[in-house]
Amino acid sequence: MAKKVLKFGGTSLGSIDRIIHAANIVKNEYSKGNQIIVVVSAMSGKTNELISQSISISKKFNKRELDVLLSSGEQVTSALMSGALIELGIKSKSWMSWQIPILTTGEYTNSRIENLNVEKINTYLSEGGVAVVPGFQGISKNGDTTTIGRGGSDASAVALAKLFGTDSCEIYTDVDGVHSTDPNKIPLAKKIEKISYEEMLELSSLGAKVMQPSAVQTAMMYDIPLQVRSTFTDRKGTEIFTQESIDYTKIVTGVAYSKDDAKITLIAVEDKPGVAADIFEPLGLNQINVDMVIQNISSDGKTTDLTFTIKRDDLEKTLITLKSNKKIKFKNLSHNDKVSKISVVGAGMVSTPGVTFKMFRALADENINILAISTSEIKISAIIEEKNTLKAVKKLHTIFDLD
Ligand code: ADP
Ligand code: ASP
Ligand code: MG
Repeated sequence: MAKKVLKFGGTSLGSIDRIIHAANIVKNEYSKGNQIIVVVSAMSGKTNELISQSISISKKFNKRELDVLLSSGEQVTSALMSGALIELGIKSKSWMSWQIPILTTGEYTNSRIENLNVEKINTYLSEGGVAVVPGFQGISKNGDTTTIGRGGSDASAVALAKLFGTDSCEIYTDVDGVHSTDPNKIPLAKKIEKISYEEMLELSSLGAKVMQPSAVQTAMMYDIPLQVRSTFTDRKGTEIFTQESIDYTKIVTGVAYSKDDAKITLIAVEDKPGVAADIFEPLGLNQINVDMVIQNISSDGKTTDLTFTIKRDDLEKTLITLKSNKKIKFKNLSHNDKVSKISVVGAGMVSTPGVTFKMFRALADENINILAISTSEIKISAIIEEKNTLKAVKKLHTIFDLD
């Protein structure tokens, strides 16, 4: 007998038929004698729809009420899943966050699961029940409903696997597993059988939405192996686990991209010590995350151009902050939000020289201009014009032997 968390994503629960199908997967696992905690997302599209509704009342919709609203999508699927299991002859019950309780810290819409009471659910599991828990939410110290960030049901599943000490955490989704790039955009993408936490964390942080980055981070911190697999096929999925157990034959494991960045250039900034600090300090104070930074060599010894990238959502706030910063002087400011970030990720890069060159040459061959670059031990990212995204991803996928 094993204790398992089974998490179902939005597409897997996108209709009543699909919920019944997912309930049958749960039944199958339960019938093998396993204890099961099911974590559910909202039906696909639901959370976006709720956000739109809040925006149609106000762009600054009250954050507390937004969390009450957004959490409702998962409440619906919890009850439908539990009801479907009961219909299949299985003892089951949905548990809202406040009934468990699942405790969170942090601000509304961006909280983090800190702890939960395992007692009631453990008793229920040992009495042969299947517990169904809504993902993406919890309650704060003062009893308010809080959500934990988009895609957060993955993080709920990993937190429950950790706190209940389950034997496995299975993420059921609409693709066969983690692929070398998004299989819905590049059909040549290949399924990855095994991937390290580190690579998965890079891929998901750089845009591969198949797993939420903070879920991968928690799994990595507590060494919780994850399986990503399809709700709709029986094929073996992807195992995400520690690096030591993986044999790297490929230099690059995957290619990811995101379209949520923006690029800013300050032209003719004074070139003297302390200027960069003066530019970036107020951005940090305003919770604006700076990603890549490029500073040109000064040609006249007095001024230089400084380019950096931020999240596109922060563009307006960044422009206001820069323009109102009395400590800095610059001739001009330009910005571009029609950019995307493409990245190649692979633990095999650590020991292979020339990967950077190969990537840049490939982009040049496609006539794609690189606007900014950043690297780490296991990834190389480049900012390019948004219109070139898929062309670049395809090319990199091919030249790194991933097709
Ligand atoms: P769920 O609703 O199950 O949480 P998501 O939509 O959040 O599912 O994530 C699954 C989607 O992630 C896939 O449909 C696919 O389009 C996308 N995706 C992006 N990059 C990858 C990748 N490298 N491997 C697999 N899927 C990816
Ligand atoms: N329903 C939430 C979202 O769409 C959480 C999730 O699906 O993981 O972001
Ligand atoms: Mg998801």
